[in-house]
Amino acid sequence: MEEDIIEKYKKAGEIAKKVVSFSKDIVKENAKAIDVAEKIENEIVKLGGKPAWPVNISINSIAAHWTPKQNDETVFKKGDVVKIDIGVHVDGYIADTAYTKEIGTNNWKDLIKASEEANKAALDLVKPGVPISEIGKVIEETIKKYGFTPIANLSGHGLNKYETHVPPTIPNFDNKSNLMLEEGMAIAIEPFSTNGVGKVIDAMDSEIFKLEEVKPVRSPVARKILQIIEKEYKTLPFGKRWISKRIGGLGLEIAFRELKRNGVLHNYSVLKEESNGIVSQHEHTILVLDTPIVTTL
Ligand code: MN
Ligand code: MN
Repeated sequence: MEEDIIEKYKKAGEIAKKVVSFSKDIVKENAKAIDVAEKIENEIVKLGGKPAWPVNISINSIAAHWTPKQNDETVFKKGDVVKIDIGVHVDGYIADTAYTKEIGTNNWKDLIKASEEANKAALDLVKPGVPISEIGKVIEETIKKYGFTPIANLSGHGLNKYETHVPPTIPNFDNKSNLMLEEGMAIAIEPFSTNGVGKVIDAMDSEIFKLEEVKPVRSPVARKILQIIEKEYKTLPFGKRWISKRIGGLGLEIAFRELKRNGVLHNYSVLKEESNGIVSQHEHTILVLDTPIVTTL
């Protein structure tokens, strides 16, 4: 990995670390999710980065891909188990990090500890040549040791310039694969622990989209949206609320439907634990070098 690329990953990580600690104070009882999301995203920009996706705020049985819509009324309640998943990029080089906070109670301390310790144990194993299944194995064992279940159909992943999910897949269980970590990979490791069955399903359409394929589109509003995406977000996920700040009105919904139907945009699904188990997540980004660098820790 070239030195200037390493520096950009490190800068993104430094910003993400500061934003995580900033966010921990504002994720609290009665806070509005939309205010928290916007404060986090503004803080990223203030510190010299860009949001690599709309901050994911996933509450209780929701595991991933929820972000508030514009004018969202969701408020954090006492007892909520909240996952905050933050993406920062510097010239397309991404820091991907997440943590879990229980609001005002302590009922899920061990569940939260399970994903946190699993994440740490996995990071400790990372170096070039390590089988990816060993990472999954230590994650699975750690979470089970606490009496919980890893979510098997959510996984860590490689990162690349302006790309959030590239090979390899980093499993949260021992998948017996003999694929190995290679020098120069940037990867995110993200164990999810649950008291449920350990599987997520699609719950509903998310507010999060991503450019799938550039194609000619008919309506002027759709064309304008596409221009914004190509210029500002490229192949990174973005929120409909980001676009609606710039293009208001009824035309927006129609244009989004057109772009989705034409296969120009991919619409993410909100992922929910199948048996409504409570979900905890911890995540860090690590550069697989001879001396590995955890950019977000
Ligand atoms: Mn993440
Ligand atoms: Mn990730």
